[in-house]
Amino acid sequence: MIIARSAQELKDALALKTGSIGFVPTMGALHIGHRTLIDAARKENDTVVVSIFVNPTQFLPGEDLSKYPRREEADFKICELSGVDILFYPDAGGMYGEDEVRMCAPDVRGFILEGASRPGHFDGVLTVVMKLFNIVSPTRAYFGKKDAQQLALIMQMVNNFFMKIEIVPMDTVRENDGLALSSRNVYLSPAERQEALKLSAALKSATKMVMQGNINSADIKANMETILAPLNVEYVVIVNRGFESIENVAIGDTIILVAARVGVTRLIDNVWM
Ligand code: AMP
Repeated sequence: MIIARSAQELKDALALKTGSIGFVPTMGALHIGHRTLIDAARKENDTVVVSIFVNPTQFLPGEDLSKYPRREEADFKICELSGVDILFYPDAGGMYGEDEVRMCAPDVRGFILEGASRPGHFDGVLTVVMKLFNIVSPTRAYFGKKDAQQLALIMQMVNNFFMKIEIVPMDTVRENDGLALSSRNVYLSPAERQEALKLSAALKSATKMVMQGNINSADIKANMETILAPLNVEYVVIVNRGFESIENVAIGDTIILVAARVGVTRLIDNVWM
């Protein structure tokens, strides 16, 4: 595995490769969720590039940028064992200069839910993904459905800017007890981890209601809010794939999303129907 620490090093490494490139952008502290994306990229492409970059522009002032888990040695090992060809591991100075051109998230879809809770977050995400796409020039890029709004905005960016990259959405990987894997789970104390199970429990209960024929969004939401009540809930929404609120769940075109704080840790989860 080649470790490229600058855009130039990455371009030099890629110049020696032929065929398709599968790309998995991450912020590190890799877990089985990331691993699933890497495995898919490995199966479907000649070359696999993973980036590990804790992107400062997507963190708001006061968020966990400096505390965000960093696991350099373990991450390198995981990439190597997963058959990654090139690991891109830049520092912030190599990715950003001063007073740069930036991407802006779209007004409506970029400023609801995560965009409302974390204004500016998606501008940072789109900016870094645009930079990464331009350095890597991937054939396919792999993103988790767990970050549903991020996935939708990246798909929109690729579309709006006529970029020739296939975005591959990947299902959320969970612990056996339902907790969605996240690098931020390391912040949870054992007691908080138990509390965090309420997110997946609420989504599971919502799925059960739909299976039993109750597709009314208000009923489903009320039930979820009861389960989530002890937590500091930021939002529970039932939307279509275009992120518009819907009165009834429509199988094949619905996402139910939740964001809540467990102690000081902010967690998100969702289910696609
Ligand atoms: P992050 O390192 O948190 O920026 O995540 C990098 C990529 O992994 C993103 O596309 C995430 O959506 C995806 N991802 C994070 N957690 C999971 C999970 N539990 N299952 C599947 N994909 C995930």
